Amino acid sequence: MALRDKFIATGIEENSVLLCSSTHHLLEAKHYLNSSGIKIELVPTPSGIGSACTTAIRFARSKEELVRQLLQESSIEWLGIYHVKRQDRRADWAELWDLKLNAKFEKVLQKVAQDQVLTKEEIVTLLQAQTDGELKALFEAANKIRAEVLGSIVDLRAAIEFSNYCIKNCNYCGLRCEQQIKRYRMSKKEIISTVAQVDQLGVETIILQSGEDPWYTTDKIIDIVREIKRKFGMKITLSLGERSKQEYKIFKEVGVDNYLLKIESTNRKLFKQLHPDDQFEVRRKHIKWLKELGYITGSGSIVGLPDQKVEDLASDILFYKEYGVHMIGIGPFLPAQGTPYQEYPEGDLLLSLKAIAVTRLVCQNVYIPSTTALASLAKEGLTKGLKVGGNVIMLIMTPRVLREKYQIYRDKNMINLEVATNSVKEAGRKVPGYIK
Ligand code: SAH
Ligand code: SF4
Repeated sequence: MALRDKFIATGIEENSVLLCSSTHHLLEAKHYLNSSGIKIELVPTPSGIGSACTTAIRFARSKEELVRQLLQESSIEWLGIYHVKRQDRRADWAELWDLKLNAKFEKVLQKVAQDQVLTKEEIVTLLQAQTDGELKALFEAANKIRAEVLGSIVDLRAAIEFSNYCIKNCNYCGLRCEQQIKRYRMSKKEIISTVAQVDQLGVETIILQSGEDPWYTTDKIIDIVREIKRKFGMKITLSLGERSKQEYKIFKEVGVDNYLLKIESTNRKLFKQLHPDDQFEVRRKHIKWLKELGYITGSGSIVGLPDQKVEDLASDILFYKEYGVHMIGIGPFLPAQGTPYQEYPEGDLLLSLKAIAVTRLVCQNVYIPSTTALASLAKEGLTKGLKVGGNVIMLIMTPRVLREKYQIYRDKNMINLEVATNSVKEAGRKVPGYIK
């Protein structure tokens, strides 16, 4: 039997998915159903059900009555149970199986094609892709999933790095408080006039990023957010580092849509090594709060940190899936002059691309930027990221005179609209219709 016919003959498995009202309830339900002996899997919410980029619980359709009963007896808040068909793309991906893949690697990729959940070891196998065939198969598969779940448009967002003051001392970062650098803060007026320039381009999402700078009090941020919403009606992403739960709540209430807070690494030991002032459990709790408060939540990892292993990256990817993180920024480590990590080698381009591709395969309907760090590491880095699963580019719209002072790492690339649109075209993709 031809490979294609054999796969078609396998048929499609019937499943049900459970959607919960928040990550908190999802994790409760996962634990509860597991301990009641129901075999479950965490999966990206299938398109057409619930909101995009969230996580759902999948189980065999035959267990549906039992699951309903169990949920009724619990305090778990759930939105619904839906019937889904597990996809089988093995026939559609026929060209990948001609690539002479190692048997173990091919088996994992076939599980992806069948929408099966991968174990950590299987994720590691994908991250260890090495031969030309394996790399091609991995990148092609990620590109196919991206096309299937999100189409060909690359979302463009604009970052304004409005302050390089920081009270933290992260060992890898060029803005850490011990750095002897010229510091700046943009006034509300300067920020608003920069947003006006972004608005002129047609870009619809503004990312306000800074070091951890308490000078911008809750009230100051609220004031800026309100003004942007009133004047331009843009979607707003904040990336201010850690704030209190109350502040996240207030920012959400005044109209902030997204919040970016990278976990950097889920390896506790590594996290501690990197962050003299932060704790892993606290960072994790903050990400959970953001999800619960209804933010489109962004996180991400740095690839190529000293002592980091591929197993750590696999755990990071599982973390994003479990927490239903909507935006996952994965960029290489780049040494920053004057920091304790200045002599460490930069992260590997290929490993960064593999991490992006595997994240796309595991988390599927999420936003994955082709990062500034990738563009700073390699020529055509942006295009490469878009080809292996990326679907977002962040323009740097910080005023020219300040940009060079926001050097979180050495030789940071400045991505403007022209650079971004060229990369989109080179990757054979589409610029969004909102760009003027
Ligand atoms: N202060 C905020 C936002 C600014 S830093 C915060 O920490 O969340 C934004 C991101 O830059 C960090 O999350 C980190 O992932 C990245 N970054 C900082 N230094 C880096 C380096 N040397 N190499 C690669 N990424 C780096
Ligand atoms: Fe500050 Fe963010 Fe850099 Fe840490 S990563 S030193 S919090 S700017």
